[in-house]
Amino acid sequence: MGFSDFYGNSEALRHLRDMLARSRFPQAVILAGPAGSGKYTLALMLAKAMNCLAPVATNGLPDFCGKCSNCVRIAQAEDLEARFAEAVEAREGLRDADKKDTRIFVQTHPDVLVVPPDPPQMMIKVDQVRRVIETIYYRPAEARERVYIFTDSAFMKEAANSLLKVLEEPPEFATIFLLSENPGELLPTIRSRAMTFPLGAVPVEDVVRYLAEDRPEWKPAQRALVARLSEGALGRARSFDVEAYVAARADALAILNSALLGGEHSQLFKITESYRAGAEGREKTEQLLRTLYSLLRDLMFLGSGAPEMVHNTDIQSQLARMVEAADFEWIVAASDRVAEVERGMRRNLLRSLALDGLSLALEKA
Ligand SMILES: [Zn+2]
Repeated sequence: MGFSDFYGNSEALRHLRDMLARSRFPQAVILAGPAGSGKYTLALMLAKAMNCLAPVATNGLPDFCGKCSNCVRIAQAEDLEARFAEAVEAREGLRDADKKDTRIFVQTHPDVLVVPPDPPQMMIKVDQVRRVIETIYYRPAEARERVYIFTDSAFMKEAANSLLKVLEEPPEFATIFLLSENPGELLPTIRSRAMTFPLGAVPVEDVVRYLAEDRPEWKPAQRALVARLSEGALGRARSFDVEAYVAARADALAILNSALLGGEHSQLFKITESYRAGAEGREKTEQLLRTLYSLLRDLMFLGSGAPEMVHNTDIQSQLARMVEAADFEWIVAASDRVAEVERGMRRNLLRSLALDGLSLALEKA
């Protein structure tokens, strides 16, 4: 438990911990990187390191114990999706008059406030920044450092201007983290008052290493597959439903094979028939369409001599046989057909009908 649980971006991590060690940590930090690069995980870990009651050092740099009451309470915010859903549900339960004035926050420690974008617009609103302003100038109650984590950089205009005022004169005992997939959407005046750390997606090898510890029950080939499909996002990798994916992929392969190599239509209809209407069928069909895209993309890479880009590595030889029957135009046309079915789904066409149409259209593509 500690910073050794953070995967990838070791250079940025070392720099941040080094600033902690020298008590030179900036009062505003932008962690910029794609979804899954670990922005939120890292911000929470730094909040723990700042406030750990039994601080430890690893590799000569500050770390956290993960067991003290500050570490434990901060860690309760780790499952952001779940905490966010709880906050939204709590608001839904309020009287209409109160609902209007209630903003969404995640707070599991009195001195650490997580500010997610507020639904339905999914933007940071001025009332959320106001809460920050109301509390930030008070010394922390149970921690050494007040920590504010904005999980997104989509600010309403007034909210951004209010935040700017805080950044002009932050108290010495507070740190503000701004997490952003696209820091360009922050006001330049906000960016200039914060130190930006770019984070990259976690390399496939690191995701594999992480899964070996976190998902020992998966076979190595499954872990390699999931690492590639999750594109460096550890959270997505950990919660990946391999069985559902492999089942959908078997159907997708049958559809593509039948179109490319010809085959029993009755067999195909048996598959497409199993995709029913309703919420469950919808999800299943969406999974199938995503899988079809993923396979077509791999065929494209194989066809253009870039096998290292293939995601579905565990069936690469099968894909290589398929690509001999599929030329570039066919792959492009097939992707267009899949997109058509997606549009049809949005218009709520009968699912299995649309899939039958897809299978037949692919043959003619
Ligand atoms: Zn601790």
